[in-house]
Amino acid sequence: MAAVLAVAEARNGELRKVAFEAVAAARQAADASGGGEVHAMLFGAPGISARAEALGRFGADVVSVVEHEALGRYSPEVFAATVAERLRASDYRAAFFAASAEGRDLAPRVAAKLGASLASDVTDFQLQGDAVIARHPAYTGKVIVTLRLMGSPALLSLRPGSITPSEQPRTARVETMAPAMDPAAARVTVTELSAQISTRLDLGEASIIVSGGRGLRTAENFKLVEDLAAAIGNAAVGATRAVTDDGWRPATDQIGQTGRLVSPDLYIAVGISGAVQHLAGMRNAKTIVAINKDKDAPIFKIADYGIVGDLFEIVPRLTEEIRKVRQNQ
Ligand SMILES: Cc1cc2nc3c(=O)[nH]c(=O)nc-3n(C[C@H](O)[C@H](O)[C@H](O)COP(=O)(O)OP(=O)(O)OC[C@H]3O[C@@H](n4cnc5c(N)ncnc54)[C@H](O)[C@@H]3O)c2cc1C
Repeated sequence: MAAVLAVAEARNGELRKVAFEAVAAARQAADASGGGEVHAMLFGAPGISARAEALGRFGADVVSVVEHEALGRYSPEVFAATVAERLRASDYRAAFFAASAEGRDLAPRVAAKLGASLASDVTDFQLQGDAVIARHPAYTGKVIVTLRLMGSPALLSLRPGSITPSEQPRTARVETMAPAMDPAAARVTVTELSAQISTRLDLGEASIIVSGGRGLRTAENFKLVEDLAAAIGNAAVGATRAVTDDGWRPATDQIGQTGRLVSPDLYIAVGISGAVQHLAGMRNAKTIVAINKDKDAPIFKIADYGIVGDLFEIVPRLTEEIRKVRQNQ
């Protein structure tokens, strides 16, 4: 029976949330095609094999660890050659990548090497006979494109947050695999990863995001959004472009067409009108709550819950109530 592959992404020696999402998607696909095995691939510097077992808990039957001192960072050619070699070596129905910065670079390289079909930024998929049907948003989320991928393996990169991985008791066989090319021969090397130094929760990893817009009027008033996020706990803070353009928040906080694409479980939009360019980045949130004084604001068209009123009255009260509830827990 054909297996399904998942490329599990790691950074700084730790598995990323998208790694579990890729494995969970591969598990879903394998189960839907009669229960084939899920094979995960994990690249990293020596020591990364210690993370392999965790992938079993999310559905991997086999984890192939490609450990090498030169692979602590993404190496486009080595990763692509090794994933392609793995896919050629056996019968694979599909392969899942994350539609992260790394996965968006890697998946097309692998597709080109294999001459395989690829769907990028996928938010939903299903297996239908010999085909894999994949859906992804286009035109700033105004339309959903449905693609039919023929031939095996079908390659899919998944939009972060579009799958909720759930734990299941499974023990993965861990095996080692050598890189398919000498990393020293790679023509492209990632020499540095310069991450914004922040103690804050990353927007892509957060399951709850509280976002603020121009309705807050000043940078200082963003404290209302910060306080609400802190009261909820484990929530990240985002912003619209109007806010980042005005310098109230760093550009890295911007959500939307030209900012971050997020799919949290809960998105609270405070003083945000709901311009199409903003919606493009957050409309896949599972539950959307909007607070806006204008009952006709476009954000209410996609909100699951809407509060029409002055944010300066509502947000402090909401924060207070959430604090009380959490104190009593
Ligand atoms: C090419 C291009 C790319 C873009 N990319 C992005 C992007 O990636 N992300 C993005 O966000 N935008 C993007 N934009 C900008 C986008 O078009 C909007 O201008 C922007 O999203 C508006 O931000 P806002 O909702 O904060 O502000 P506004 O549209 O000004 O909305 C403010 C809202 O606050 C409400 N409000 C005011 N006072 C209160 C109050 N006291 N209580 C409650 N509500 C109140 C108002 O009713 C209003 O609805 C892009 C634009 C272009 C042209």
